[in-house]
Amino acid sequence: SSRVMLGPLVAAIDQGTSSTRFLVFNAKTAELLSHHQVEINQSFPKEGWVEEDPKEILQSVYECMERTCEKLTQLNIDISNIKAIGVTNQRETTLVWDKETGEPLYNAIVWLDLRTQSTVERLINKTPGRNKNHLKHKTGLPISTYFSAVKLRWLMDNVDEVAEAVLTHRAMFGTVDSWLIWSGGVHCTDVTNASRTMLFNIHTLDWDPELCNYFDIPMEILPKVRSSSEIYGLMVSPHCLCKSGSLSGIPISGCLGDQSAALVGQMCFQEGQAKNTYGTGCFLLRNTGAKPVMSDHGLLTTVAYKLGRDKPACYALEGSVAIAGAVVRWLKDNLGIIQTSTELEKLAASVGTSYGCYFVPAFSGLYAPYWEPSARGIICGLTQFTNKSHLAFAALEAVCFQTREILDAMNQDSGIPLTQLQVDGGMTSNRLLMQLQADILCIPVVKPSMPETTALGAAMAAGAAEGVSVWSLRPEDLSEVTSEKFEPQINPEESEFRYARWKKAVQRAMNWET
Ligand code: ADP
Repeated sequence: SSRVMLGPLVAAIDQGTSSTRFLVFNAKTAELLSHHQVEINQSFPKEGWVEEDPKEILQSVYECMERTCEKLTQLNIDISNIKAIGVTNQRETTLVWDKETGEPLYNAIVWLDLRTQSTVERLINKTPGRNKNHLKHKTGLPISTYFSAVKLRWLMDNVDEVAEAVLTHRAMFGTVDSWLIWSGGVHCTDVTNASRTMLFNIHTLDWDPELCNYFDIPMEILPKVRSSSEIYGLMVSPHCLCKSGSLSGIPISGCLGDQSAALVGQMCFQEGQAKNTYGTGCFLLRNTGAKPVMSDHGLLTTVAYKLGRDKPACYALEGSVAIAGAVVRWLKDNLGIIQTSTELEKLAASVGTSYGCYFVPAFSGLYAPYWEPSARGIICGLTQFTNKSHLAFAALEAVCFQTREILDAMNQDSGIPLTQLQVDGGMTSNRLLMQLQADILCIPVVKPSMPETTALGAAMAAGAAEGVSVWSLRPEDLSEVTSEKFEPQINPEESEFRYARWKKAVQRAMNWET
């Protein structure tokens, strides 16, 4: 059989909270040619703790690569056309490993994990006026369980192996991007991932000695910070991909935290453009251009991307919601009212209303705009009539209301209301959710037909890197990208009424633990 003739291809590793994917795109058309996905196990050793196995994460990447290469071979596509590989990853998730043995010294502490709540309280109590925004002028972030520095502090305080390795200069810290790239021998990260650690100065774009001192973290364990698009190293595959060829030697030349990658993949390169990604959590980012903008309404300031060593950094305002798709997983695994996440839509659609039931899934406290670690989940407005279908509907609405709160904050901060919302992420395959979102925001919701925008962004960064240069980042070159639009269908008064009820429910979820 003859080989399919294509131009250069670019691949992406997308290591998310709930799964790992490897995807291969045509660099001329952005068409997704093949991919493979593997679920990641999460362990919950104690209430509020969330861990993943670093070796399983790495293994899942190899498995996805191998299977994708097999699929490409079946499609008669030559693997040697792959010119670059990009990495995108769940952000903030924290790992420490031994430089000499390469062994992880503890499980990866996942971004959602709440074990550092008392560490956070201690840190906030130490600040003048007990101000959780004490480090915000440098980091763009409030002191919270969410960010890596507090997780790393916990590891150094509570895990003997980590403390010992730090003392003997064998410890290496990294987020998931660093862990994956290090398997090829380079200890680095990019500015977007670094900007989520709380050790990184988003103005100077470097690790900040004062911040490291504040958390008492030695700078020698930190990875080198690079731009989001440059050659970091070459792919080394320890596993024989011999049946379908090898990825060894291909440059790894793109690295972006998942939310930054989605912003790039949605081509939000202009100031004011925004996207919302619905995965395990939900993250709305709005491009603010070359200047970091500090929020007065509980949003984060973060590095959006820096697409080349000599290119300027671009910043974003971000609204982070901890629990979105995770509530679906909870309904499935903890309550058992659905067998698969796709069943949720049918169940919710069968009633088409929550019948006055409101579900605030504050499992990990509340993130933006509240940043309240002591909030806990609540389901209220139940009657004799309420059943699992109403609960399913309320869960979907919860995702939409949380997004509405972020969008309101963002509109207030920027003074320019968003007129439509670009969306992506695993949950957007749920059409009922998309319609509900348009209804609750009272603006259209636009979903690209190719849902893998996070991976696309990482592939674009990799393909555009100096020395690879097979991908142009000009949006007009991607005229084939199509999308679907969901228009609001209910009247704004109805929408406001439900939103007001939601706000009331949120107040009941607040300060539960204190
Ligand atoms: P992540 O990048 O955080 O791993 P993904 O973008 O892969 O997340 O999305 C997976 C999440 O989306 C899971 O939490 C899952 O429960 C949820 N999800 C997937 N499909 C659906 C669906 N049809 N309806 C509702 N939720 C869904």
